[in-house]
Amino acid sequence: MAIFQVALVGRPNVGKSTLFNRLCQKKMALTDDMPGLTRDRREQQIECYDTPINLIDMAGFEEAAEQKSKILQRQMNAQIEQALKQADLILLILDGRAGLMPADEFLHKKILTYNVPILPLVNKVERPDSAGVLADFMRLGNADLFPISAEHGLGIDALRDRLSQLAQEAYAMAIQADAAPLSEQSDQHTIKLVMMGRPNVGKSTIINRLLGEERVIVHDE
Ligand code: GDP
Ligand code: MG
Repeated sequence: MAIFQVALVGRPNVGKSTLFNRLCQKKMALTDDMPGLTRDRREQQIECYDTPINLIDMAGFEEAAEQKSKILQRQMNAQIEQALKQADLILLILDGRAGLMPADEFLHKKILTYNVPILPLVNKVERPDSAGVLADFMRLGNADLFPISAEHGLGIDALRDRLSQLAQEAYAMAIQADAAPLSEQSDQHTIKLVMMGRPNVGKSTIINRLLGEERVIVHDE
């Protein structure tokens, strides 16, 4: 296998991007993001105690539902679909302040169909008595709930431990399955290219063509 892929999924405003920034340990200026970029998925390679992981923030998730253009909406949903399919682990982010919402349960049911392990994280848990908050989320049927506060950095070390452990298990299994050594597959030795040009000259189309997949959205809006 290549790098361990972790996708962040959740309703709008549960704190996905805050957690993404927290795990990346740097502000990736969300509000400064160009609209064209936030429609795609945002990815960042991080190290969890020396274990490389690729984090994917579903930047387009909330926007997809709000798009007036049906074509764009469909393209954005395809982006989300692709990220979920390539994921080795899905972090389902829940809002500990709001409690379990029908939309969470709907989302949970949907991601179950991808057959990817799910780790539910209950975010915005800033008080020490998290047991009461977590009880509500037990209805999802997953006893393995992680209380965190992405904004205040609580529970993040335990989460990093867990991510690193799960990734290492997956890497070990991949090596056992006689995959090529990780060092040969690592993204770290690849050349990074920047595609530049005026809007609508065809940058995204070229990228998709080179990769052989609909990695970025092509649209004239
Ligand atoms: P996203 O839509 O899921 O990406 O959510 P954001 O990361 O944009 O966060 C939505 C809102 O929740 C923002 O106002 C954040 O400041 C707030 N938020 C995120 N994480 C926490 C947290 O751990 N505790 C609290 N109290 N607020 C948070
Ligand atoms: Mg976000």
